[in-house]
Amino acid sequence: MMNYRHAFHAGNFADVVKHIILTRLIEYMKKKPGAFRVIDTHAGIGRYDLTSSEAQRSPEWVDGIGKLITAELPAKAKELVAPYLDVIKAENPGKLKSYPGSPWLARQLFRPQDRIEALELHPEDGWTLSKLFAGDIQARIITLDGWLALNAHLPPKEKRGVVLVDPPFEQPGEFERLVDGLVKGHRKFATGVFALWYPLKDTRAVHDFISALRSTGIPKMLRAEVIIRPATNPPTLHGTGMIIVNPPFILEAELRILLPALARLFGDEGQGRHKLEWIAEEVAPVVAAPKAEPVKAPRARAPARPRAKTGSIGSPRPRRV
Ligand code: SAM
Repeated sequence: MMNYRHAFHAGNFADVVKHIILTRLIEYMKKKPGAFRVIDTHAGIGRYDLTSSEAQRSPEWVDGIGKLITAELPAKAKELVAPYLDVIKAENPGKLKSYPGSPWLARQLFRPQDRIEALELHPEDGWTLSKLFAGDIQARIITLDGWLALNAHLPPKEKRGVVLVDPPFEQPGEFERLVDGLVKGHRKFATGVFALWYPLKDTRAVHDFISALRSTGIPKMLRAEVIIRPATNPPTLHGTGMIIVNPPFILEAELRILLPALARLFGDEGQGRHKLEWIAEEVAPVVAAPKAEPVKAPRARAPARPRAKTGSIGSPRPRRV
């Protein structure tokens, strides 16, 4: 049973933080001339009418994009947010009425060689998304289970890409499915950039999720969170998180500028905080075993098998990807 409708939440603070990070990832991909692909496993409808009854019922966007659009951010943060806000402004030549979801936002940032593959399981939403992209040769819309794409659709033929996994968290087990999906996806596309969204709501569940990610042994995982108020009991959404696997070399420095600025903007009266830490860093490069020696020469010992390190900010940086 699919009850979740993103139209109620489009443009809220969690969407804005997620979409700014997605924009930074795409901007980095564009620095090389080669084509890349965005695979959006839980795509939504692509464009949201902020004047619709859903968006008006509890207008979450007012405290999200509504705040950002008029905010005076510090200069460096403003510069980093600019490509995202340029898309929002192009969509809204006058008043803010429309909000681009992840597939539409990504598409607006593309060069002619880049492609998107977007999956949406809800039949009505899948149809709406297909209509939005009708005739676009750079987009492929599939009304199917997005979790399957993490196995079947990877690696993309371009061999460069960003995989956004943004499930609705309406059913139990979504955190486990995210870990499982990443393991499958990473096995097929170890050099891909994966961006996994998760809600900060149930503190225990997030703790277990991070532990489970660590125990996968997948290297180069950055955790980025914006917390807008202390956790509540019973749990309510109090922040937004993203795990970025194989983040571009520059992303950590950019997030050091962006996350505090966004936490200040979206946080309840001075309560905004952020978290940025490596939950797994790079595995030491495997040293190639020497070629077999002539019969009488002493045997070379096999190099020790490298293990994933864990740590926090300030420890050695992962290599450029
Ligand atoms: N990524 C979108 C964005 O940022 O604009 C928002 C996506 S929303 C959080 C999650 C979407 O996933 C919903 O539209 C929901 O219908 C869809 N969905 C739920 N289960 C799915 C599945 N197994 N495969 C693909 N889509 C699914």
